[in-house]
Amino acid sequence: YDWFQTDNLVTIVVYTKQKDMNAELVIVDCEDKRLRGEIIMDDHSYLVEVDLDHAVSEDVAVNIAEKVGKVEIILSKKDNIHWKMLGQPWEGHNTFIKRTNRGLFYRKCKLVAKTEVTHDTKLFCLMLPKGTHLRVPTGQHVYLKQIIAGTEVVKPYTPVLPFLPLDFQEPPRPDGVHIYLMIKIYSHGLFTQALDHLQIGDYIFVSNPEGNFKKSQVQTSEDLILLAGGTGLTPMVKLLNFALTEVSCLRTVKLIFFNKTEDDILWRNQLEQLALKDERFEVQFILSQPTKDWVGKQGKISSSLLSEFVKRSRRDSKVLICICGPAPFTEQGVQYLKNLGYSQEEIHAFTA
Ligand code: FAD
Ligand code: NAP
Repeated sequence: YDWFQTDNLVTIVVYTKQKDMNAELVIVDCEDKRLRGEIIMDDHSYLVEVDLDHAVSEDVAVNIAEKVGKVEIILSKKDNIHWKMLGQPWEGHNTFIKRTNRGLFYRKCKLVAKTEVTHDTKLFCLMLPKGTHLRVPTGQHVYLKQIIAGTEVVKPYTPVLPFLPLDFQEPPRPDGVHIYLMIKIYSHGLFTQALDHLQIGDYIFVSNPEGNFKKSQVQTSEDLILLAGGTGLTPMVKLLNFALTEVSCLRTVKLIFFNKTEDDILWRNQLEQLALKDERFEVQFILSQPTKDWVGKQGKISSSLLSEFVKRSRRDSKVLICICGPAPFTEQGVQYLKNLGYSQEEIHAFTA
């Protein structure tokens, strides 16, 4: 890395020498005089972490030259002073190590909205601090951290979009400022009860993203099949948006959504609207505890249900099947899919 300054700006340049560098791979946090810039390169992470020589304003700009892998972090000086050095390095400064060995970094985010999705599930909108540059990649989750009764408690959640991509003229692109989380509040749940008690304007800690899903798994698929149980819908939301707006070879996208009752179906109306709007997309709701007036499909995840609904659109179609839900649902689902002849490479299970 290198840095230079003008009268007003300080620019830190990292030459990753990695092509296909993009905004999701660069995470910057600048608060007071502490600057932390992390760059993800496959399973490694490079870090710039210093106490800056002088104060900077809250706004941070990140420029990425994607083809050559050059990343610029641009800070605005608060005072028009010539800096003698960038700052005092922290312990992890200028290190390139395995991501798994880099502890999770949290920043404080403000709860700006909370809206009902169903009787027990809410959409939380969190606002990132001004000095943070963070885009959560499709298929990845973050950790939320709260102090509950004096103890730090951490739980993973998968960001969604504010709504499904019904209008392809203007797909819901992440604005880089807000993170949307669809969270089910359990009546005896430790973390979700505390979360539900947060007021608009309160703060909560949000970590860097994690997860092993790679968009490239979808990019070559012709059929995408999504099996979701309850809030296991969450990773499917961005995935659906990505698949329907950016994967040109995709012929069919099918969501098979398992819930207990009709009232538990998340974004039912939006999913049905999307199916009407885009002929590639189809949704099938399956209820495990329906009332007697439910005319749709009923049952639990099983070999026979999967053999009925999980099919290639053509005999030799390239298929990707993604599955997410309660751990036993996911484990059983993967086993049934393997028994039906799908290979490990054709299945992606979302887990912690
Ligand atoms: P807990 O206190 O853990 O309890 C949950 C429920 O289980 C309660 O009803 C409780 O009474 C019951 N329970 C707890 N322990 C037992 C027990 N031993 N026996 C029987 N019942 C028990 N959730 C979402 O809503 N949205 C998401 O986007 C989301 N993303 C996730 C991503 C990942 C990678 C993973 C692994 C999980 C995700 N989750 C998501 C689940 C989330 O992390 C929490 O597990 C969930 O919110 C429950 O937390 P809690 O502390 O409120 O509940
Ligand atoms: P839920 O309402 O309890 O269940 C959703 C559906 O799954 C129901 O039809 C339910 O049927 C079925 N199901 C539950 N347990 C099952 C089992 N053991 N075997 C077969 N089917 C089962 O679900 P939820 O409360 O929303 O919970 C969603 C789960 O998804 C949580 O455990 C959460 O941690 C997980 N999740 C994981 C990720 C990730 O990325 N890894 C992301 C989001 C959510 P029944 O009538 O039998 O209960």
